[in-house]
Amino acid sequence: MSVNYEEKASTGLNQLGLETALNQLDQCSQQAAAQNWSYSHFLGYLLDAELSERHRKTVQLNLKFARFPYLKSIDDFNFDAQPSIDRRLIDELATGRFLHEARNVIFLGPPGVGKTHLAISLGVLTANLGYRVYFTTAIDMARKLAKALAENRLKREIQNLVRPTLLVIDEVGYLGLDTTQASLLFQVVAQRYEKNHSIVMTSNKPFSDWGHIFANDSIMASAALDRLLHRCTVVNIRGDSYRLKEKKLAGASFDLNPA
Ligand code: ADP
Ligand code: MG
Repeated sequence: MSVNYEEKASTGLNQLGLETALNQLDQCSQQAAAQNWSYSHFLGYLLDAELSERHRKTVQLNLKFARFPYLKSIDDFNFDAQPSIDRRLIDELATGRFLHEARNVIFLGPPGVGKTHLAISLGVLTANLGYRVYFTTAIDMARKLAKALAENRLKREIQNLVRPTLLVIDEVGYLGLDTTQASLLFQVVAQRYEKNHSIVMTSNKPFSDWGHIFANDSIMASAALDRLLHRCTVVNIRGDSYRLKEKKLAGASFDLNPA
């Protein structure tokens, strides 16, 4: 019995789960005939539609999974307002190479200088590259893990934090951790290090103060720093809060208006 290949084109795409290619098949075939496409041009065009749609869905899921408090991108960052940052360093991070190198990124500096903005930007670009990323503050993560420990489901909770290609831990050192919370943060750092998965962190505390972050356990703090800094890009940001600067600028232009 001979096969009806015309029919097989659509049933085959359906069986293979190539939904977008199936939806575009008729229109794409007509276009191919009208424009005298080669067979491989036609196939490439159809696959491109399928792959772009799959990528779009992946990115959408990644962004949902990440739980960013808001979305930011490096393009929104005003480098002129922040001369203490080496633009080339951020552009290099924006290639996403740090993810393949299992390199960590730590943004240090006072409040309002753009640490969270840049950390979220790296998270968003990770999602756009098609990788899983998860955003949390240090205290939220520590509390969640302590709760999981009490409820005998720590292993699963830690796995959830270790599995994504990137973990963004914001505001390390803003709120003190107790001994249990500190050791849980350490376990996440250590396990991600073993798995060669990057961490992006932000902190207002210099490394010399990290003993306090780890409940005054300087041995645990240095064991954590050892792993974090083994492969790491540290971005030290100095200067005034961008929010306050913007306020001042707004005030200045207001003053210029004659009453
Ligand atoms: P931090 O985490 O260092 O306290 P944020 O990243 O939360 O600071 O920045 C405070 C606000 O100012 C955010 O809305 C952020 O987008 C904005 N901001 C900070 N620095 C810049 C900058 N250089 N260009 C554009 N927006 C900035
Ligand atoms: Mg912040």
